Amino acid sequence: MTCVRVLTGIKPSGTPHLGNYVGAIRPTVRASRQAGVDSYLFLADYHALISTHDPARVQRSTLEIAATWIACGLDPQRVTFYRQSDIPEIPELTWLLACVCGKGLLNRAHAYKAAVDKNLADGRDADDGITMGLFMYPVLMAADILMFNAHRVPVGRDQIQHIEMARDLAASFNHLYGEHFTLPEAVIDEQVATLPGLDGRKMSKSYDNVIPLFAPREQLRRLIMGIVTDSRAPGEPKETEGSALFQIYQAFATADETAALARDFAAGIAWAEAKERLFERIDREIAPMRATYDELMAHPERVEAYLRAGAAKARAQASPFMARLRHAVGLRPLDTQPAPTSAGAASAAKPAAPVFKQYREADGRFYFKLTDAKGHVLLQSQGFANGREAGQAVARLKAQGWAACLDLHALVHALVPNHEIEAALQRLRET
Ligand code: AMP
Repeated sequence: MTCVRVLTGIKPSGTPHLGNYVGAIRPTVRASRQAGVDSYLFLADYHALISTHDPARVQRSTLEIAATWIACGLDPQRVTFYRQSDIPEIPELTWLLACVCGKGLLNRAHAYKAAVDKNLADGRDADDGITMGLFMYPVLMAADILMFNAHRVPVGRDQIQHIEMARDLAASFNHLYGEHFTLPEAVIDEQVATLPGLDGRKMSKSYDNVIPLFAPREQLRRLIMGIVTDSRAPGEPKETEGSALFQIYQAFATADETAALARDFAAGIAWAEAKERLFERIDREIAPMRATYDELMAHPERVEAYLRAGAAKARAQASPFMARLRHAVGLRPLDTQPAPTSAGAASAAKPAAPVFKQYREADGRFYFKLTDAKGHVLLQSQGFANGREAGQAVARLKAQGWAACLDLHALVHALVPNHEIEAALQRLRET
């Protein structure tokens, strides 16, 4: 059977909460058990270094998150479960990709742009406090994905742009050095619930409203008793709509159990009783996993052994693949014959028809890019307020060429020399 390779990175930052469990851990573990799915799950510890410089925290968090995933049912025998920093081929690939990545592509990455915008709004230098780690993060992420030629990468909407960049880098590399990389696709799971926290807003560390996934039973009970409710007295009917308590219950209960609680809300169940029922329901699901988690936390050497075995499995693929890529770019032993096609792989190819691709991103703005037939990005626009403006810019570029549209240069980044863009636009006019 052909397998779909699905890759998920988990950043070891902080202690997982019920929202992470419902929104990320539980669906990913379920998906990894499906037939025909070959799952790659990794602890993105290089990524963690972007946001923390506290070594003890990185180590502790890596242990906590790895133990969490195993406790939640991830089967390390079945999936490839590894720590990013155990795979030296990943930073090596990051460099190869950096060398085919236009700087302009990274200038428009959301996380970097947001950091620049914040600096400017606060009256600071645009790049104040921004590390190359943050700037290069999409290239490292592309290396994570392309190293294993993943077909699918489940992500939140805010990450779609990074998958698009991984595709662009893969296409640029393939264009220069031959077909090595599969172009990955982002998968957005619309079904996954967003769990509210203690105060009714999205459960999030930044709102300080979280319930830790593996809080001891009594602490879990105490936290659940603190979930915000309205002031309706026992006996008064209660609304399920907008009730954080009800939504959290729904994320754990069966359809029948949820329907029963809805009936009890209408019949005026006391809040304390509803909370007790929620507590028991969650604890029923979590308690067996909590026991495994506590056991693993007490034995870090077991978690380490799982990760080392996973790294060996991952490197069995990464290492020969990296050798092939090194050869492709010309990092070769000096006593091997140069491959006759190496210099001419791109130039020998027939001139391919370029295409303009227009699309809308999660920020609601309209973008376009010009790529050659192999997907190599030649021009990349910034966001336009509406599709008409983006379409007009495309039409002008097609009709007039790049040099004649000077006013567009502030809105459209050239990722290759100007003469290549002119040649592509000329080809477009001829086809
Ligand atoms: P974070 O802790 O924000 O880095 O999130 C890690 C993963 O958990 C991401 O896949 C998030 O989408 C998911 N997640 C975080 N908070 C929630 C929440 N309140 N409800 C559902 N999913 C969440």
